[in-house]
Amino acid sequence: METQNCSNYIFCKNELSFEHEYGKHMCIDCELIFGKWKGGRGKAVIKDNTNCTICLKIKLCISQPKCDHFACFECFRLCQYGDDTYDIENKPKFPYDKDIEKQYYDVLETPDLEIDAIEEIRSEWETKYPLIKQYNIKNNEWEDKKFEKSLDDENLQLCIVCGQ
Ligand SMILES: [Zn+2]
Ligand SMILES: [Zn+2]
Ligand SMILES: [Zn+2]
Repeated sequence: METQNCSNYIFCKNELSFEHEYGKHMCIDCELIFGKWKGGRGKAVIKDNTNCTICLKIKLCISQPKCDHFACFECFRLCQYGDDTYDIENKPKFPYDKDIEKQYYDVLETPDLEIDAIEEIRSEWETKYPLIKQYNIKNNEWEDKKFEKSLDDENLQLCIVCGQ
């Protein structure tokens, strides 16, 4: 399958998934941090041998989303995804075995799928494997809750030097 890396790949190690991110340059994780719609700069600036403004060590650093201050990857992650383990024990599990899960996501992530086609595939799979429907509903609820929590944590994500 043809894939494309996020423009911040060196930081996030994410490939773009075609279902959600087709035609974009950044993965969803990065979009939520650096997105221009959030007042961010878009693509991150990454510099080696730079003073981290948080731990003060000289390391490989990434720019804060809204200003020109830098933080090392570890500190930056801690600020941005502080609570990444949030409620992980309640994350819904795919109701069928790993092979089926892989097949399901491989089909959905076929490049160039139109939204209609995705909907069609989804409903075919939900007919064949009825538990998937419930799983998708539960999983979306879980993702929404996690997203809301991340909005609550927004103050942690500000640059500690200038507060932007
Ligand atoms: Zn990314
Ligand atoms: Zn640091
Ligand atoms: Zn700053």
